[in-house]
Amino acid sequence: MTKYKLEYIWLDGYTPVPNLRGKTQIKEYSAFPDLEQLPLWSFDGSSTMQAEGHSSDCVLKPVAVYPDPARTNGALVMCEVMMPDGVTPHSTNKRATILDDPGAWFGFEQEYFFYKDGRPLGFPTAGYPAPQGPYYTGVGYKNVGDVARKIVEEHLELCLAAGINHEGINAEVAKGQWEFQIFGKGSKKAADEMWMARYLLERLTEKYGIDIEYHCKPLGDTDWNGSGMHANFSTSYMREVGGKPYFEALMAAFDKNIMDHINVYGPDNHMRLTGKHETAPWNKFSYGVADRGASIRVPHSFANNGYKGYLEDRRPNSQGDPYQIASQILKTISEVPTGAVAKAA
Ligand code: ADP
Ligand code: MN
Ligand code: MN
Ligand code: MN
Repeated sequence: MTKYKLEYIWLDGYTPVPNLRGKTQIKEYSAFPDLEQLPLWSFDGSSTMQAEGHSSDCVLKPVAVYPDPARTNGALVMCEVMMPDGVTPHSTNKRATILDDPGAWFGFEQEYFFYKDGRPLGFPTAGYPAPQGPYYTGVGYKNVGDVARKIVEEHLELCLAAGINHEGINAEVAKGQWEFQIFGKGSKKAADEMWMARYLLERLTEKYGIDIEYHCKPLGDTDWNGSGMHANFSTSYMREVGGKPYFEALMAAFDKNIMDHINVYGPDNHMRLTGKHETAPWNKFSYGVADRGASIRVPHSFANNGYKGYLEDRRPNSQGDPYQIASQILKTISEVPTGAVAKAA
């Protein structure tokens, strides 16, 4: 038997953006544990905005497990928060009720800022660095400094070793701003891996004295880009059948449901979706081929391939909850008839 360090990780009850929380328990197993071997565990919900002090216990229910590459015999255990009965989802547990479909694929592009001493990494103590331009995908100390690349590389290694489908990295448009991409099949799988990748990034940067700023417009109304979490999505129907009439019906449904999407695409998004800095205004839905100023960008490959493939919703922001974002996309897709529409047109 081996003693495993199980890090139970969950989302707390803070609004509008939950924080990641985690605590460790040691359990003995003969081999790396399966999900079914991981017990329920309780925590003090009165300290996480999930319960009152006089009846404080909430229950953690493991829903996904990954090796923890930063610990010997470690496991990262993604959990849902349940009521004390262990079966009723807590009101803060969004994952329990989202739509899922293994044929729906999601690629999330997480943008964020490194922050140190209350400002983006690489910003001078007063004023601003040289304007945006050379930072996006940049190289060299003057563009990316001396520590950011070390962190993003370490984060990549941690994610891959944990079995998280990290797909890439790039330095972003603002100084101190970076992006990584996570791809998954099914909304729960993709979103679990995004939350776990966020956890690993925040835990990793502790030792550097650096925080991750996920706010979508940390520098306010300036000429510095905000941070998004573009959601690339495709269903099996979109990939295998598609067609222009179906695509147009889909876009009409996205237009009609604009507020349902904006409501779960992350807080303060009006600060970011202004129509400037490669965004579309938050209150007007649009789409366009290769258009990075549209709500939904239609890749060239999609249009050239008979309107088949994936689409990029550029509106979700860096603080958005991938569970709710993926679920709302699936909800709107579910409102559009497939075969019938394609044939009628
Ligand atoms: P860009 O910065 O040009 O918008 P990225 O390369 O950062 O694009 O991100 C593209 C994302 O699209 C990746 O996360 C990738 O996994 C995802 N993606 C590619 N094909 C599909 C697909 N068929 N369905 C869903 N997502 C996809
Ligand atoms: Mn990208
Ligand atoms: Mn980007
Ligand atoms: Mn993108």
